[in-house]
Amino acid sequence: MTRTPSTQEMSPEHLNAISKVIGQASEWKPALDKIINLIRAVFIFDNLAVYLADPNQENLEAMYARAMGRGRSREAEAGWGENIANLTITTRKPILIEPNPNEEEDRLKRPYLLAIPLLVNKRYLGAIVFIRFGGPCFSQENIELSEFIAQQIALLVERQDMQKAYKMLEEQRKVARLQEDFISTISHELRSPLGFIKGYTTTLLRSDATWDQNTQQEFLQIIDQETDHLMELIENLLDSSRLQSGQLHMQFEFVRLDILLKNVISRCCLHDPTLVVSTDFDANLVPIQGDSHRLAQVFENLLSNAAKYAPGSEVMITVKQEENHAHIAISDKGPGIAEQYIPSLFTRFFRVPNHSPSVHGTGLGLFICKQILQAHQGEISATSVLGQGTTFHILLPTNPEALET
Ligand code: ADP
Repeated sequence: MTRTPSTQEMSPEHLNAISKVIGQASEWKPALDKIINLIRAVFIFDNLAVYLADPNQENLEAMYARAMGRGRSREAEAGWGENIANLTITTRKPILIEPNPNEEEDRLKRPYLLAIPLLVNKRYLGAIVFIRFGGPCFSQENIELSEFIAQQIALLVERQDMQKAYKMLEEQRKVARLQEDFISTISHELRSPLGFIKGYTTTLLRSDATWDQNTQQEFLQIIDQETDHLMELIENLLDSSRLQSGQLHMQFEFVRLDILLKNVISRCCLHDPTLVVSTDFDANLVPIQGDSHRLAQVFENLLSNAAKYAPGSEVMITVKQEENHAHIAISDKGPGIAEQYIPSLFTRFFRVPNHSPSVHGTGLGLFICKQILQAHQGEISATSVLGQGTTFHILLPTNPEALET
């Protein structure tokens, strides 16, 4: 039995409804889903597919396929419409292909195909193709409605492409901005210890002056500290580029977090005697699999950040054994970080703007921490309240599946 498409005409309300869907949509695929639902009563077809052109407008790629009723099983493959879609690249006009009459009994072997190019200001974006098995042929009304839909979808595709291009441009600008900031930060960070080292060495070497033992000692200590600073900076830069290129290898072993943290705390307090750290460790901590050297680097970085950005504040470190992981929280009662900067904290080179210029840093520390923790199948996040302090949360699995070494 030949199915006759409904004779019900597309009303202005229908057209309005389609335009409204387009007006409100940000993505063309869900919009097309909605449009298909709106038109199904007046326009019957078995399958529909959308093919989009590459930037050279030479090749089409199937981007959407939908099967209605009887053709449902063919939804996944959109190959059936490729040939007719390709014809629209040159014609840029609707194309209708009908099967030879009465040649085949099987309706699936008698497809009626309708392809409409997607054009915006004469620019070819692709094609939308409808198929109806066993007829009847697409009517003039069907063609007009398909052209209307194609016009609307083309506008959406174009809008979506522009938004994508805009987003990419924004990303590129952001990276360029971060790189510019990085170059100015890094030059400052390199110059200032070098300036101290050079200045104090020159002073000590002056032949026209003599320095008593204490002064000499003091100057040498400054040189020593600044050299450490410089070495740390270079190590951070190297780590960060090794992490970027996947060259930083971990040596996994069983690690007791309580012992590791106690060692880190005593090293940090020795280095900065003003640092006050209190701890609360669960008694039943399960050892984890980790690289103790790299994990110590993470905790040292967080403690040194607390000392730098929350000077004078006590730092609290808690470790809780939770279901499948250890939860380490490192909290200070410093100035905190504004909410808008939290998502960027772990990005390479990011530094919260406008903090005191005397606080040295490159914006690499937290990026490195995150990468090291990811290599442990762990996570790091931050919570902060301005004026009240910041907490860094670390989750480390206590039963990680075979970690790579
Ligand atoms: P660096 O300290 O070298 O700038 P990090 O990646 O370690 O880089 O930290 C990124 C930024 O996060 C810092 O520049 C600082 O603005 C902010 N920050 C980190 N820790 C704290 C903290 N405990 N309190 C307030 N701000 C912090």
